[in-house]
Amino acid sequence: MIDRIYLDNSATTPLDPSVLEAMMPYLTTDFGNASSIHTFGQKAKMAIDKARHQVVSLLNARSPNEIVFTSGGTESNNLAIRGLVEANSRHGRHVILSAIEHPAVEAVCEDLQKQGIELTILPVYDDGIVRLDDVREAVRDDTVLITVMAANNEIGTLQPIREIGQFVRELRDAGRKIWFHTDAVQAVGKIAVNVEEIGCDLLSFSGHKINGPKGVGGLFVRRGVRLHAQNIGGRQERGTRAGTENVAGIVGLGAAAELAASNLDDIDTRIRSIRDRLESRLLESVPDAIPNGDRDRRLPNIANISFSSIEGEALLIALDMQGIAVSTGSACSSGTLEPSPVIRALGHGDDIARGAIRFSLGRQNTAEHIDKLLAVLPPAVERLRSLKPVTQ
Ligand SMILES: *Cc1c(COP(=O)(O)O)cnc(C)c1O
Repeated sequence: MIDRIYLDNSATTPLDPSVLEAMMPYLTTDFGNASSIHTFGQKAKMAIDKARHQVVSLLNARSPNEIVFTSGGTESNNLAIRGLVEANSRHGRHVILSAIEHPAVEAVCEDLQKQGIELTILPVYDDGIVRLDDVREAVRDDTVLITVMAANNEIGTLQPIREIGQFVRELRDAGRKIWFHTDAVQAVGKIAVNVEEIGCDLLSFSGHKINGPKGVGGLFVRRGVRLHAQNIGGRQERGTRAGTENVAGIVGLGAAAELAASNLDDIDTRIRSIRDRLESRLLESVPDAIPNGDRDRRLPNIANISFSSIEGEALLIALDMQGIAVSTGSACSSGTLEPSPVIRALGHGDDIARGAIRFSLGRQNTAEHIDKLLAVLPPAVERLRSLKPVTQ
């Protein structure tokens, strides 16, 4: 057995043992339905209340009523975007999004477009960052929603969400009916995410990206913001999301939120420094390695590098055979390798987009993991390049 090294923490993270421990009672003895009046039910309800407070504290929300638990980041994005547009259709039919949104945002917007909603897609330039001026220019009288992610999941770039939040607040103060959603699934737990400072109306997050369980997440919904429920048939989550609560999952999300808050310093210092070493050493030791996206304004745990003249997928498999897990960020559809739309949005050609590899670190990673990668990767790239038939 080799000790596998996991550098794909943007895809998912391992469940923290303390989170599992917090969840265990609700998977076993304390199995009550939080809607029941008896003691079993009240125990479950209290556990959910505690988790809601833990999330409130991580995000600096004003009230537990501003948190809606969901099945994860995807559902949160669906509820935020479709729920807001449907609830406010009389105010407008135009939505603004960035060119590098997660598919869970992009697909919902495209689906709304089929129903007559108009979209404006903001460019991100070669640094992978949206410009506030472009947001200002894109806003129309009938714009109801701006959705721009907090941090990109492939290249880690941080978007100007505070500036956008401030801008949207000014528009609303002037009487406009316009709201701001941010997908913060990657940012939460990696950098401080404070809904008051950002000034967003809606913010999505997910459990399994912060060492919590899969299948649970949430949406911050600022007080007074109306959403059309996407799941109906019960009064759970104040009617915004019907269905018996995933009590153990929610308890795990709460515990993970508390843990994430206490780990931000470690991510900002230790993880950032081993990420920086990983990146600078690879750029030095591998010819024609190109970093993707702005290297300052990004998450401390992600490095995305293109190795020209090779398929990222081939390198991923070569690294996996040596016990190292990374990702390409490209979708493999029906056997054809589609280059990553995010890397394409930076203006790169197919060769650069196809050779992109994402290294995403988590709190379990160590300097030794990076040493192993640095020993294995350069020769793997050289081998793949030497195998490539010369086509010129
Ligand atoms: C992972 C991810 C999602 C989806 O979250 P799930 O909980 O897996 O549904 C949404 N947005 C971003 C930016 C992500 O990285």
